[in-house]
Amino acid sequence: MSSYSSSTVQNTDLCQCGLLPVLKTSWTDNNPGRRFWSCRMYLRKGCGYYRWHDPPVEGRSKNIIPGLLRKIEMLEEEIKELKRKEQKDAMWLRVVIVVVVLILGLALLR
Ligand SMILES: [Zn+2]
Repeated sequence: MSSYSSSTVQNTDLCQCGLLPVLKTSWTDNNPGRRFWSCRMYLRKGCGYYRWHDPPVEGRSKNIIPGLLRKIEMLEEEIKELKRKEQKDAMWLRVVIVVVVLILGLALLR
């Protein structure tokens, strides 16, 4: 896993771009939940400034957090799948209602 999230806590160091770094959280298997300072321009490559804010992740949490993250991803996938199925079902229901209304309409016209 390699996703990160941002926060607004500040650091007094400047990166090589002369900007205040941003505090982000690593969600990699080796550093789950460990925060680090990064160049503000990271999306446009930036200067590559990088400094850990938290000590290394150790012990039980290092083993548990990646498993929990995978479980969350799995559940999110399941929710997406159920929403897709629900939309499909709702579409079919609308089609059935239109057909029934048409048949009733035709029957009443006779
Ligand atoms: Zn920079």
